[in-house]
Amino acid sequence: MNILLTGGMGYIGSHTALLLANAGHQVHIYDNLCNSNIGTLDRVQKICSKSIGFSEGDVRDTEKLTKVLRDAKIEAVIHLAGLKAVGESSQKPIEYYANNVQGSISLIQAMQMVGIKTLVFSSSATVYGDPVYLPYDEDHPTSPTNPYGRNKLQVEEILRDLSVSDKEWQIACLRYFNPVGAHESGLIGEDPNGIPNNLMPVIGQVVNGKLPLLNIFGDDYDTPDGTGKRDYIHVMDLAEGHLAALIWLQGNPGCHTFNLGSGDSYSVLDLLHHFEKASGQKIPYQIVERRPGDLPEYYAKADKAEKFLGWKTKRKLSDICNSSWLWIKNSRKS
Ligand code: NAD
Ligand code: UDP
Repeated sequence: MNILLTGGMGYIGSHTALLLANAGHQVHIYDNLCNSNIGTLDRVQKICSKSIGFSEGDVRDTEKLTKVLRDAKIEAVIHLAGLKAVGESSQKPIEYYANNVQGSISLIQAMQMVGIKTLVFSSSATVYGDPVYLPYDEDHPTSPTNPYGRNKLQVEEILRDLSVSDKEWQIACLRYFNPVGAHESGLIGEDPNGIPNNLMPVIGQVVNGKLPLLNIFGDDYDTPDGTGKRDYIHVMDLAEGHLAALIWLQGNPGCHTFNLGSGDSYSVLDLLHHFEKASGQKIPYQIVERRPGDLPEYYAKADKAEKFLGWKTKRKLSDICNSSWLWIKNSRKS
């Protein structure tokens, strides 16, 4: 299949591009590089020894996107492009709506122009909001607590309306839990521009001496060790989830929602200790105030993806930490 990945130069997109290319698909990346680096393309191509197309552009540029879809003879799109910092989304809500919601509408319009009707959308577990029960299943009420989460939910709703209006669309909204880890080669991994917000990239910067220590946001939650618990999913498991969704969508029109998580949750200290074991390094930390808006715990019920897509996570927390450590070590050299 000829597949376009918007935002494919980013963390999840680069791993997904690699997996799809290795599975024999023709991959074309469309990215404006606002949170990624062109050097990733060479590294992905080096790992898979395949050629991957690239066009630099913004998803809001409908005309350019339409041309790329047409020229590369695209048959399906994975839409990963977007801004993703939850805290920043409250400070710059309009920038987030313009990029994430308007950008998605522009992509849909470009796809309509060319007649492509297969789409996988990067959604997020943040659409659920405060847990009414756990684990979250796909029927859990959605009540996001920040603009970023509302962007994701609005795009899901737009896609649902679209699939009702035109029965030929085949759409999967994948609600990711906490993607972490790196490709086994250690050549690609999470490499955000600027100061990271998420736990694993912060740990990476502590190990690489860019940050003095890890601030753990609260140890007084109602969890066994008092720190927040999350459902961490290896980025290569997540990449495999995209491929499974693309395959399943052929012959399954409509707009479908799937949780992509492991179904387990680990605390900040669990992750830290696994990482210390993988790296043989002590990670200095201090306990600070809770981060506003953080939930004590959440994790996925991932049965639906297993039942329909035949997908479930294969990799463990030790695989996550080993691959992250390899990537962090390698990025220190470059
Ligand atoms: P990332 O920032 O590494 O990758 C996103 C890519 O999109 C970047 O390469 C960026 O340059 C590009 N981009 C952003 N706006 C664009 C635009 N207007 N036009 C073209 N390109 C644009 O993020 P990621 O972690 O790889 O996330 C990918 C997707 O998955 C995002 O939509 C994100 O919201 C979603 N998601 C991520 C997580 C996570 O924790 N990483 C969790 C749930 C959902
Ligand atoms: N966390 C932390 N220090 C950090 C970053 C994150 O203690 O510097 C905690 C955070 O409070 C949460 C967990 O790590 O309990 C995962 O946070 P992350 O930002 O990676 O993901 P999200 O909050 O989106 O689940």
